[in-house]
Amino acid sequence: MIDHITKLLEQIPPSVQLIAVSKTRSVSEVMEVYHKGIRHFGENKVQELIAKQPLLPSDIHWHLIGHLQTNKVKQIAPFVHLIQSVDSLKLLKEINAQAMKNNRVIDCLLQIYIAMEDTKYGLDYTEAEALLSSQEFKAMRNIRITGLMGIATFTDDHAVVKQEFQSLKHYFNKLKTDYFADQSYFKEISMGMSGDFAMAIELGSTMVRIGTAIFGERDYSK
Ligand SMILES: *Cc1c(COP(=O)(O)O)cnc(C)c1O
Repeated sequence: MIDHITKLLEQIPPSVQLIAVSKTRSVSEVMEVYHKGIRHFGENKVQELIAKQPLLPSDIHWHLIGHLQTNKVKQIAPFVHLIQSVDSLKLLKEINAQAMKNNRVIDCLLQIYIAMEDTKYGLDYTEAEALLSSQEFKAMRNIRITGLMGIATFTDDHAVVKQEFQSLKHYFNKLKTDYFADQSYFKEISMGMSGDFAMAIELGSTMVRIGTAIFGERDYSK
């Protein structure tokens, strides 16, 4: 595993944030990666995140990268570093409310739907614009939208994935111009996983979410 990480880090420029995706991994596996200097970890399930977080060092920045149910926001609001999977105004309102209770501002990414499969969560471009134009959004003081996240189609066809990453970058540019021109914090494009992060970086990714290439294949049978 140590070899994996050293080689991987060489392929990621310093301007790109590595998120080590630790879903299904034990606390001791996470600690091994932590000791290589990695401080950003991502989980896709609230239950798993809140089980691990208290057992691990407090200087870890935790990212929620999977679908988030409104009624679970309060469990992660005290500590979460970045919620990457905001896919509705309703969810954002609850994040804002829970952030207020915790006397903090929670950074979020809008998850934009870019894949061919229609089972994926996310907003399409029109829905993202509607959210950002709404008075409700403009009144929120305890959240900050720092960019976009996208999950490409799970396929070996690089042309498809490339086109999806390009569309996310394009959406980012448009939303930046129309809604965040003066907000330097709107700067993140979270795209790229183990199989496609090099291409994602070439196409403008600022955050890569990598599980398998760090920890090895996941075993869901455990
Ligand atoms: C599991 C997961 C990843 C990491 O996938 P790998 O192929 O193991 O690198 C990235 N993003 C999300 C949203 C995930 O659920």
